[in-house]
Amino acid sequence: MVEPLILIVEDEKPVVDMLQYNLETEGYRILSASDGEQALLIVKEESPSLLILDWMLPGISGLEICRRLKRAKDTRNIPILMLTARGEETDMVRALNIGADDYVVKPFSLTLLIARIRAIFRRTNKELSDEKLELEHLKLYVDTLAHRVWRGPTEVHLGPIEYRLLCYFMANPGRVYSREQILDSVWGRNRYVEPRTVDVHVRRLRRTLNVDGSPDIIRTVRSAGYSLNSS
Ligand code: CA
Repeated sequence: MVEPLILIVEDEKPVVDMLQYNLETEGYRILSASDGEQALLIVKEESPSLLILDWMLPGISGLEICRRLKRAKDTRNIPILMLTARGEETDMVRALNIGADDYVVKPFSLTLLIARIRAIFRRTNKELSDEKLELEHLKLYVDTLAHRVWRGPTEVHLGPIEYRLLCYFMANPGRVYSREQILDSVWGRNRYVEPRTVDVHVRRLRRTLNVDGSPDIIRTVRSAGYSLNSS
């Protein structure tokens, strides 16, 4: 499985560094933003699986970011965990009312924060914790516990990279991923492979999943990248 991507929105660099280090150790992928404008851009481009959002930020406040993300159709399902200083605790009712999924009061215990993150993923991000991924229109079924894949009634056998690629695409069907994004997520940031390598593995994935002339599951988007066929 591809590890969930968490976006940390926080202007205090030591807090960001500490969170990034510890959450990466937990196996999450991390991006960070130091203000709201940057955060909204990253959300749009990277579709993170969760936001850790500080309340007090320069420019747009954490509360306002939360409101905007929860109002928009594309982003309302991204869970938001808000961070707040003790004095703002009573205001948290407002944050919860506009859709924040949870909050943690600063200074916080890291163990508690990590437990809350896990709970949010269990509760709201079904496809990341589910044992089964399926796309009915493509007749595609993945058992993520057993790492087994079926196309219709036929079980197909994928290599480890192809398997990760497929899970990555299935997490957001219809979304177009660039070769760079695919490399970062499927191979990780410390990889030494060229973007063309993606083409090789996508071709292999396509070939393996194309059972008896079933419809192609991966769409090539010229000069942009690849996407799972969403229709
Ligand atoms: Ca702050």
